Amino acid sequence: MPGRVLVVDDVLPNVKLLEAKLGAEYFDVLTATNGVEAVDVARQEKPDLILLDVMMPVMDGYEACERIKTDPSTQHIPVVMVTALSDISDRVRGLEAGADDFLTKPLSDVSLFARVRSFIRLKMMMDEWRLREETSDNFGMPNEPQRLIDVDTCQAQILVIEDNRIDSFNISDVLAADEHHVEFADSGETGQKMAFAKAYDLIVVSLNLKDVDALRLASTLRADDRVRHTPILMVSEDDEMERVAKGLDLGMNDYIVKPIDQNELMARVRTQIRRRRYQDRLRMNYERNLSLALTDELTKLYNRRYLEGHLASMMRRKAEDEAKASLVMLDLDRFKDVNDTHGHNVGDEVLKEVATRISNSVRNFDLVARLGGEEFVVLMPETGLETAEMVAERLRARIASDPYRINDTLNLTISASLGVTEIEASDSPREALHRADLAMYQAKRAGRDQVKVYSDEEKLAAGGLN
Ligand code: GH3
Ligand code: MG
Ligand code: MG
Repeated sequence: MPGRVLVVDDVLPNVKLLEAKLGAEYFDVLTATNGVEAVDVARQEKPDLILLDVMMPVMDGYEACERIKTDPSTQHIPVVMVTALSDISDRVRGLEAGADDFLTKPLSDVSLFARVRSFIRLKMMMDEWRLREETSDNFGMPNEPQRLIDVDTCQAQILVIEDNRIDSFNISDVLAADEHHVEFADSGETGQKMAFAKAYDLIVVSLNLKDVDALRLASTLRADDRVRHTPILMVSEDDEMERVAKGLDLGMNDYIVKPIDQNELMARVRTQIRRRRYQDRLRMNYERNLSLALTDELTKLYNRRYLEGHLASMMRRKAEDEAKASLVMLDLDRFKDVNDTHGHNVGDEVLKEVATRISNSVRNFDLVARLGGEEFVVLMPETGLETAEMVAERLRARIASDPYRINDTLNLTISASLGVTEIEASDSPREALHRADLAMYQAKRAGRDQVKVYSDEEKLAAGGLN
């Protein structure tokens, strides 16, 4: 896992030491010797992680951290403060400035590399979601930008797996302050069941459970689809940093050491929930944009872009297996008259009703798309021409049967013309759609409200249409 780490310290030997250690593990190392420089390098170089000294001239680590974490272009970069101070209040001050973690000098290699790896992994995950967000921005669907530090961190669903009653009491006391909904598991076994049964925003797990190996439990949770994205915070004893490091390597997100300091726990919980919620937002935006890009807003059917992509991948697969598939093209008859007589809004209501009727008349693995305007396509996998023609006839009858009741006042009669074609071995999406289109125009020419199957004569007849 390569990554770029910015090391910030005003004492040159400290910089050199970290540079050598990280370089030996193949990280690219950037350096800065005060807070102002750190903020500049962070903006320009966008490193994957910043190791930030606290006490420096010109601008100290707290202020630098705050600037990095409030700048939208650098807020995603994890910041680990490296300090000789081990006073809890300093740590909390750093966490409040937005720092993601602390390392205490002198640095132990185990905790250093475990932290560095785990944060770089986190950064890469965030980058992936941000990239997708940018992609959808490029599609012309801008997302509201949001700052990480503005994300609300209260009222989360939290599971605490801890069999020591005093510790779990302490933890619950702290979490109550942010109005979290906390559930407790008093054994590892119960904890695992609960974690799989419900979606939590955070799981807190003690590394000293009596009934199971807590690290094994944590990695079982991490490997499961239902829990994969849920942050896990370990609670450890002071003398088990090796296990903590292993936990971080296994994908746990953070840890806190007993005796638990209330402010530190609160700050770490907030950090995890903030990241979790921020990522959820990015993911939801992405999914929403994806559906906007691939579905038609009026009818909620797939759009042309999706249909063509789907046809192309289906045809690639079809070259291998010889299953049949068919395509129906459907165009409403004299639809312009509906708009001209009753208005566009009524036309829209009719289109929605037609979409519903089509969807309800086909199998659920048939794909229904709105190509645009009043044109629809049904793609039927595993379906030969004869069956497809029958289905098309059923669609025609379903569309033309009952009148369309719009706004509780109008009763409109609607019909459609349909063209059917079979998808062939050496087909392209364009050709298949074109054949279905030709057949559909034949149906128009023959008087509308009917089904035509594509045949070679269509090619000849395609010329003169009015
Ligand atoms: P034909 O039987 O030959 O298909 O006649 P037609 O009037 O349906 O054909 P034409 O293609 O000339 O007109 C299609 C009309 O569909 C034009 C437009 O008013 C209407 N239309 C296209 N998209 C929409 C839409 O999103 N909403 C509404 N309400 N009408 C639409
Ligand atoms: Mg039409
Ligand atoms: Mg049309």
